[in-house]
Amino acid sequence: MAKDETLREAFIDELRDTFDAEQQIIKALRKMVKAANSATLRAAFATHLEETHAQVARLEQVFASLDEKIRGKHCDGMAGIIAEAKSIIDADFDDATTDACLVAAAQRVEHYEIAAYGALIAWANVLGHREAASLLEQTLEEEKETDEKLTALADGGINQEAAGNADRDDETTSTRDAAAAKGRPAASVGKKVKKADKAKKAEKVKKTGKAKGRR
Ligand code: FE
Ligand code: FE
Repeated sequence: MAKDETLREAFIDELRDTFDAEQQIIKALRKMVKAANSATLRAAFATHLEETHAQVARLEQVFASLDEKIRGKHCDGMAGIIAEAKSIIDADFDDATTDACLVAAAQRVEHYEIAAYGALIAWANVLGHREAASLLEQTLEEEKETDEKLTALADGGINQEAAGNADRDDETTSTRDAAAAKGRPAASVGKKVKKADKAKKAEKVKKTGKAKGRR
């Protein structure tokens, strides 16, 4: 950026960054809808996907209100957050843990957006762009509501269910420990654990396959 560029240029630059971020989020949310195991979480992601489409349209209105070309600029921050979310989807977590991790990832996305829109609104206000500020405020409200909804879902059962699975895993480990203590070959118990893991993986593949067929 040239040294004589002003807050208006910074504002437009941030708008472009956010415009790109929203488009990255649309792609990510489509995957998160498919990856979510809980029906309520899936519905929450689907609702926010619809809202995000409207947010992109709202940003287009913001550009128009400023007589600026509608253009995105790669948002590295969002790309990083989404890469982390993708690694959760690809990981081998049990269903409940996957959901708990998806909520955590989605909240990172929302918090980033809340920070971005907060700054954009403050700048729109000091620059006297009232129409832009009011459009951006509508989106900020949706991001905050989404964040709260995700917290409610996590606290309302998703985290607890994941923790329940963690407890069961602990039991499996203690069975193995107990077997070892009794002098039984721990390896045979270990094999059972591996078998259970394999079955879980096969189930996951089956489910993904089915899910793909549905689409
Ligand atoms: Fe958004
Ligand atoms: Fe959002």
